[in-house]
Amino acid sequence: MTMLWCRMYAVADKLGKYMKETIPMAWSYSSMKDFSNCPRKFNEIKVKKNYEFQKTEAIIYGEEVHKALELYISEGKEVPERYSQFRKIVETLNGFEGEKHTELKLGLNGNRKPCDFFAKEVWVRGVVDLLIVNGKTAYVIDYKTGNDKYADTAQLKLMAIMAFEHFPQIEKIKAALLFIVKDRVIKERYNRDDLPELWARFEPNLYKLRQAFSTDVWNPNPTGLCRFCPVKTCEYNPDH
Ligand code: SF4
Repeated sequence: MTMLWCRMYAVADKLGKYMKETIPMAWSYSSMKDFSNCPRKFNEIKVKKNYEFQKTEAIIYGEEVHKALELYISEGKEVPERYSQFRKIVETLNGFEGEKHTELKLGLNGNRKPCDFFAKEVWVRGVVDLLIVNGKTAYVIDYKTGNDKYADTAQLKLMAIMAFEHFPQIEKIKAALLFIVKDRVIKERYNRDDLPELWARFEPNLYKLRQAFSTDVWNPNPTGLCRFCPVKTCEYNPDH
């Protein structure tokens, strides 16, 4: 590990403790992504709750596929015919040796230590689609039913951090984003020693999020996606 990463982690550790006091809500990979995409939209929907989060057809489809794969592994339920194209991949995963956890809800507190997903002290939350623990090695699998064009492995990194913290015996993680519709796999491997570098991936955005809360400044980030945004009060929304 480089000196730079070590320093960043030391700062991150302090900031993390500070952040717990200054960010009045638990964050997750998806909420951090929403904040990065547009702080103003994040504030209106996730913080002030002035607008409801709207599920798109793609989101509903993704939830149904996740549920079908979860039930196959956790309860042995046959994958419905309409999702039969995913049977092979889920059968392969089910054949891996190890203890399988599906849709595993994990939380960390402000000291970045394990806590229950629903605990009052929870600081960051994550749900691992499939975690397979086989001794010192584990697999972290995230199913993706969407486009693989902007694949982001930050989610794998956060899930790996949480798995390392909740399962102290794990030394090595083989993580994968499975784009099951696109038939593409993006793999990453992490060792327990990588934890500081994994955390460092999130520090810049955590800093910005803390700043936004402390100043109550939520800048807009206009893009072509503004036309799908429910925040009609924003001057960049075509329906404003
Ligand atoms: S309209 Fe665009 S800039 Fe405004 S809140 Fe929505 S996404 Fe952000």
